Amino acid sequence: MAKQAMCKRCQQKFEIKYIYTIQQFQYRKTPPYQWTVEFFAKQNIGEWDSFCESCIIHYQKISLDEFESIK
Ligand SMILES: [Zn+2]
Repeated sequence: MAKQAMCKRCQQKFEIKYIYTIQQFQYRKTPPYQWTVEFFAKQNIGEWDSFCESCIIHYQKISLDEFESIK
């Protein structure tokens, strides 16, 4: 049986190969990754927390929205 991970946000289990973390945000241009790490730290989310695809898309959106709103 494939190894499973659990999404920290929605608590759904999924195959470990589909795991996402906020570390993938280091590849986007805005916001800067350092800003992103601090934004999620305030929400008690660290670089090693696991998320499913739909939850990481949610976080991608709210972090970008927050960054745009404070400019
Ligand atoms: Zn999830």
